[in-house]
Amino acid sequence: MCASGSHTLSEPDGEKKARMRMVIGHRPPHATTRDGIRDPGRFGAFGGRYVPEGLMAALTDVENAHRAAWADPEYHRELDRLLRERIGRPTLLHAAPRLARALEVPGVRVFLKREDMTHTGAHKINNALGQALLAVRMGKTRIIAETGAGQHGVAVATVCAMLGLSCVIYMGADDMARQQSNVVRMRLLGADVRAVRSGDRRLKAAVTEAVRDWVAHTETTHFLFGTAAGPAPYPRMVRDHQSRIGIESRAQLLAATGRLPDHVIACVGGGSNAIGMFHAFTGDAQVRLTGVEAGGRGLHTGEHAATLSAGTPGEMDGSFSYVLQDHEGQIARTHSIAAGLDYPGVGPELSHLKDIGRLDHAVATDAVALRGLDTLCRTEGIITALESAHAVGYLLESAEQGAIAEDSLILLCLSGRGDKDLAIVADLLDAG
Ligand SMILES: *Cc1c(COP(=O)(O)O)cnc(C)c1O
Repeated sequence: MCASGSHTLSEPDGEKKARMRMVIGHRPPHATTRDGIRDPGRFGAFGGRYVPEGLMAALTDVENAHRAAWADPEYHRELDRLLRERIGRPTLLHAAPRLARALEVPGVRVFLKREDMTHTGAHKINNALGQALLAVRMGKTRIIAETGAGQHGVAVATVCAMLGLSCVIYMGADDMARQQSNVVRMRLLGADVRAVRSGDRRLKAAVTEAVRDWVAHTETTHFLFGTAAGPAPYPRMVRDHQSRIGIESRAQLLAATGRLPDHVIACVGGGSNAIGMFHAFTGDAQVRLTGVEAGGRGLHTGEHAATLSAGTPGEMDGSFSYVLQDHEGQIARTHSIAAGLDYPGVGPELSHLKDIGRLDHAVATDAVALRGLDTLCRTEGIITALESAHAVGYLLESAEQGAIAEDSLILLCLSGRGDKDLAIVADLLDAG
């Protein structure tokens, strides 16, 4: 899930929600299952599976299928082949000397992981392809997904066309009006894009419709969720598929420099490109990990999407994690210039890494992100996505504040390319 709007996977009302909790149980931190194995759907206190009973069996099937596939060399052979031949992996690791010079910190070196160079231009395709291949393995013939800004929908429609799967994308009617070019892309790729006119007419309503469809068609259908959040097994499964961002980067950086980075930086919406990048480094205590969230118009304005920075633990989209909510648990309205960061939740693994002190989180406002975009264009010739521009803007701001050490080696994830944002940027250039 990748865009604006507040929502829960199941949309339970108060009474139903209380009953669900009783059925599913609200496990304490570090819960173990009956046979003493740590609950694989948990990351410390976070994660779990808070969904209506009608979805439990389907989620367990996906979990078991993913675990079996991940242990099967045949699945990895096919996935690796498609990632290489169709998606363009491994992606480049780009030494960025002119960006590094712009930081004005002596001896600093910056490397960019170019997820923007994948087919369709963002990291989302890594997860879409992995899950679509899993669906084929499970004997499913139909994929459904929800989309907000349309980026996840385009990735899903693409892999469905590649693998010959039928594809239904639920999208709020208001989002469709705003994101027409992605609607055209999805339809060209053969997807059935269904306008959702109920509820908020945005992502929240689209999720509700997609879940309703899944409950009625679990025999034939896989629900392809787009970020490392939601009920188990999605956070771990999406992490597994995105983890090659970090695995490739680690090997490429060691080959180029002979050492590990001092500091790894990625933007955080739901958290999939960030956890995909960070996972290969969580065991290296000396490597600093920073997730950069959308500061929107500034944290003090309340118009932002900085969940790790300003949220509190709660339930949303079927799992327990940091959430932007008020005292009564009402999900907050969010704002970001980057549609992919405009989300009031965050994945449970990042929440856990924050709580154990392994993850730093920072915010970049809309204005800082635009500066990041501009500087990267002019120094390295890369028009990056507004989401990724938050990570670049944060780096520039940190350097100015003296927070980047001399001679440090920095690895930054460019999650996507900026073509999709040209209309927004053009309007701002006109206005500015
Ligand atoms: C969707 C998107 C994001 C945010 O999603 P995560 O799950 O947090 O990675 C970031 N960058 C781009 C280019 C996106 O399309």
